Amino acid sequence: MDAKLKALIDQSEKIVFFGGAGVSTESGIPDFRGVDGLYRQKYDYPPETILSHEFFFSHTEEFYRFYRDKMLCLDAQPNPAHLALARLEREGKLTAVVTQNIDGLHQRAGSRQVFELHGSVLRNHCTRCGHAFGVEAITDCTGVPRCPCGGVIKPDVVLYGENLDDAVVSGAVAAIAACDLLIIGGTSLSVWPAAGLIDYCHGKIALINRTPTPADRRADLLLHGAIGEILGD
Ligand code: NAD
Repeated sequence: MDAKLKALIDQSEKIVFFGGAGVSTESGIPDFRGVDGLYRQKYDYPPETILSHEFFFSHTEEFYRFYRDKMLCLDAQPNPAHLALARLEREGKLTAVVTQNIDGLHQRAGSRQVFELHGSVLRNHCTRCGHAFGVEAITDCTGVPRCPCGGVIKPDVVLYGENLDDAVVSGAVAAIAACDLLIIGGTSLSVWPAAGLIDYCHGKIALINRTPTPADRRADLLLHGAIGEILGD
């Protein structure tokens, strides 16, 4: 781990991690706005359009083509960043992970208190009867996945144009407001309202990202680089 970050962690007792897609790029999952991100690849529609509430219901088959191809990365494994955060929680230093990611890798690494602001690809539900499904409901078929009741199955992922879950936001805000160190990492801080949650922090801020972010000047410690290398052993 980076020595300056380790010193800050050693001085802190209630650490919260706030992260995004950059946390999982070292697990092989592309981010949106990084150098190899999905926004630099060419599709018939921009990713924000495909991943929107309106598009899901108007072009469901096309949504699922993109979603299965690009958003479901079920073979990905936690990387040293996920593992280091899980270890800090086990050691009683870290109280919560607040993530914009939908890949479930923090929990796979062993983190328990995870606020998934944008939901998870691992959970799905029927838009007609509300029945809950695992990810197999999406992977074990082609085309538009349907519930036995005939309704379309939708991932429990917050699409553009949808609201965040109130309980998840409240939990995340409470954890951030109570922390003495907020480690922000692997996020461009450009997706709202998620990015605004860091404003609830009254403690110190350490920021780890490959590229500059709007919060760089607020950071007590700013580290530009790969988060797995910076946080890992
Ligand atoms: P983003 O793509 O906007 O930004 C990612 C940031 O991480 C970039 O600034 C990039 O420079 C940085 N980065 C990439 N790899 C890094 C690394 N190894 N170490 C340090 N920094 C690294 O991502 P965002 O801010 O999370 O917003 C995008 C939205 O897309 C989120 O809402 C998220 O739900 C969704 N998304 C999730 C996943 C996932 O679950 N893994 C993947 C892609 C997009």
